[in-house]
Amino acid sequence: MADRDGWIWYDGKLVPWREATTHVLTHTLHYGMGVFEGVRAYETAKGPAIFRLADHTDRLLRSAHILGIDIPFGRDAINDAHLAVVRENGLKSCYFRPMAFYGSGKLGVAPPANDVHLIVAAWPWGAYLGEEGLETGIRVKTSSFARHHVNVTMCKAKANGNYMNSILANQEATRDGYDEALLLDVDGFVAEGSGENVFLVRRGKLYTPDLTSALEGITRDTVLAIAAEMGLELVEKRITRDEVYSADEAFFTGTAAEITPIRELDNRVIGAGSRGPVTTEIQRRYFAIVKGEDARYAHWLTLVG
Ligand code: PMP
Repeated sequence: MADRDGWIWYDGKLVPWREATTHVLTHTLHYGMGVFEGVRAYETAKGPAIFRLADHTDRLLRSAHILGIDIPFGRDAINDAHLAVVRENGLKSCYFRPMAFYGSGKLGVAPPANDVHLIVAAWPWGAYLGEEGLETGIRVKTSSFARHHVNVTMCKAKANGNYMNSILANQEATRDGYDEALLLDVDGFVAEGSGENVFLVRRGKLYTPDLTSALEGITRDTVLAIAAEMGLELVEKRITRDEVYSADEAFFTGTAAEITPIRELDNRVIGAGSRGPVTTEIQRRYFAIVKGEDARYAHWLTLVG
């Protein structure tokens, strides 16, 4: 990732990609106390447009607030940084990685409060769980790692350190030949994927876990809007893994993962074992929205211009 041409927004300046570095004694590198986002821009008829930028920036600031990280840049500066990296890198569509982290001011556990940095990088990134996964669905394994407990870390913050749990779960699943992990909460109920929220379809109703220990996904919220528009009843409740086994359809949602059908969990085929009709329709509407083909959602798109 480090050795390429381009520009990264770093503390208010655009710096050449290879020079966007930090010291090895960077606090966040040692302890994981930082916050980040994953955002996408899609190619639309009016040029590249960033999807739900304001909501992502709000979540970044909320994550920082939860962890007590004082980001020295405001909402507008962060939004503008996203526009700048698309323009400067000449991107048509991309994934963004904004991140706030502590510098190398000091290295005790207590972070250097006044040494907070912010970067926004952007690069082209295709389907996170594969193009084929979007069409045919993926194979998922219930993780032996539980999702964080709400008093072990802050589940509502998209915090760097939280992702060690995601990495352990994802590595375990992929090493065993699956595409992704499904994590249960500490009480054994379905929480989310390593980087996705999860939905089920059963007898024409949509089900998703409540957000106790899962991230409040922006794609999840978009799916709730799509479900309302389709007249699909939505039930937010505790879900067990055997409810997933016996669902008609299941899918993951995430900025990176978009709407990815799940065709198997723990070697149990879900429904017909392919992308189901409800998932197909939600996915179709999702891509129409992000690509600017559905005027009702134009307010969610920030044109780069
Ligand atoms: N849960 C986790 C753990 C995630 O990392 C993500 C990706 N940000 C999501 C859910 C989905 O969130 P969003 O739809 O906002 O990308």
